[in-house]
Amino acid sequence: MRVVLLGPPGAGKGTQAEKLVKKYNFPHISTGDIFRAAIKNGTELGTKAKEYMDKGELVPDEVVVGIVRERLVQDDCGEGFLLDGFPRTVAQAEALDDALEAMGVNLPGVVNVDVQQDELLARLTGRRVCRGCSGTYHIKFNPPTVRNVCDKCGGELYQRADDTIETVKQRLDVYRNQTSPLIAYYDQKGLLLTVDGSREIEDVFKDIIMLLDK
Ligand SMILES: [Zn+2]
Repeated sequence: MRVVLLGPPGAGKGTQAEKLVKKYNFPHISTGDIFRAAIKNGTELGTKAKEYMDKGELVPDEVVVGIVRERLVQDDCGEGFLLDGFPRTVAQAEALDDALEAMGVNLPGVVNVDVQQDELLARLTGRRVCRGCSGTYHIKFNPPTVRNVCDKCGGELYQRADDTIETVKQRLDVYRNQTSPLIAYYDQKGLLLTVDGSREIEDVFKDIIMLLDK
């Protein structure tokens, strides 16, 4: 089973990825992880990627695609894989198509975990972190017993700068602008499997499995 997993920040993509890996027993290929590995192992492409990152520049598509390709041809990907965080652009999606064609395999589906903007805002801006022990809470889904006080250490809870409404809105905008052409691309190819991610984790998971096993 070869799967590409898409979803905005806060859609619960990470949780679904974990569950899919347990069910299908395939490697979870997250671009962040394989980048770190390529850099740590000092591969040619990893070194190139590091140069861009050190300068604070975006790593160009050809380098990103090269690193993903190197990962996909490893033995553990023979029976399948879960791609998470790649592709991000249509150009990357086309490069992925080429790579899969060269491997003689196809992509049965691209899972898009979709959640309405309001719900994403509520999920992402409700997060609070303890100044003392770094424990995390959510004002709606996992509140502390006493408002703004950590259950574990009594420390003060605060909202990280990343979780304020302005920053979250900006992150979501960036995501939508970047991925809407990608979603249209897979939709045109008849590969897009959209799942309503606003429901319970288990219900979302059941839907994904049902669509993939079709
Ligand atoms: Zn604490």
